[in-house]
Amino acid sequence: MKKDIPIFYRECLEAWCEINEQSTETVYDIANQYIWNNKFICIDKKSIFYGTLFNKGIIRVGHLFDGSGPIISKPALQFSPLDLFQMKGILDSVPSEWKLKLKHYTGSVPFLLTTPDDQICLPLKDKKIILSKMPSYSMYNILLSRKSIVPTAQTFFNDHFAPHLLEWNKIYLIPFKCSIESKLREFQFKILHNIIFTNTKLFKIGKVDSPLCSFCNCTEETIFHLFVHCPFVQNLWSECIQFFNHAGVFFESDITEIDIILGVLDYTDDSILMNHLILLVKYHIFSCKLKDRLPYKSDFVVRLKTVYRSELCIAREKDKLNYHFKKWNKLVQILS
Ligand SMILES: [Zn+2]
Repeated sequence: MKKDIPIFYRECLEAWCEINEQSTETVYDIANQYIWNNKFICIDKKSIFYGTLFNKGIIRVGHLFDGSGPIISKPALQFSPLDLFQMKGILDSVPSEWKLKLKHYTGSVPFLLTTPDDQICLPLKDKKIILSKMPSYSMYNILLSRKSIVPTAQTFFNDHFAPHLLEWNKIYLIPFKCSIESKLREFQFKILHNIIFTNTKLFKIGKVDSPLCSFCNCTEETIFHLFVHCPFVQNLWSECIQFFNHAGVFFESDITEIDIILGVLDYTDDSILMNHLILLVKYHIFSCKLKDRLPYKSDFVVRLKTVYRSELCIAREKDKLNYHFKKWNKLVQILS
């Protein structure tokens, strides 16, 4: 690649190389390697492209061979002396281990595609997709999947909640679907990435004198104890769930750790409201911890009414009252 190539084109070519890199373990893989602009086939340390040969159908390494060896040993009429000279140069540049494998292969060379145009394909998961039929977002996803690393918190929760198979794509979306408040979304983001500062974490870095729970002062304050198992918090959950159920938003009486920490994944009509309520209760618990107060249902209801009124105002301004009343339908009477 030229050193002075503009950054945009350099990045395009690098992305192309990354997406298009394929294994070369089998004869099939080798035969289907593109000759052109291939970093493994260089002449004078540069990858090559000969338009005349390309137009004559010499595109993949396998095109240089037939069942009995290199095609230049018995050239067809369409190749000029210059073509043959260039093909000889290419053959000399093909890695020797590839040539060895192709030489020992006695059958006809298998190709990925047998269309006359020999269309260019890219690997997408386990399939090969024709380039012209591949949308740009699929290519972008290939690049992302090669760079993305599973967050450590995801592994932490997967281990904790095993054998449940967690649908992370849906879990990450819950706070965005159920609430329009940035601070709530950010709060759930911190929970999902296990970066909520519980006393256990603060104690480790010397910011508090004890790792014990801010409410009961008996057990280590982990994320699970703080939001689910602390007796004071359990009392709050039980009172709140009774309150919601009374209004017609039916929670299971034994709401699970997964429901509380990650959200409710069953998509019933009420799931958006249920997830919003769970998130608000969690936020209330954390606010109380920060203020060194016990979490009471009465304080939570005051908070809930404020949230309801602010969503109502925003819905009015944005002309989305229908959606608002559909979401809050069962709690409207209690909260207005
Ligand atoms: Zn506690």
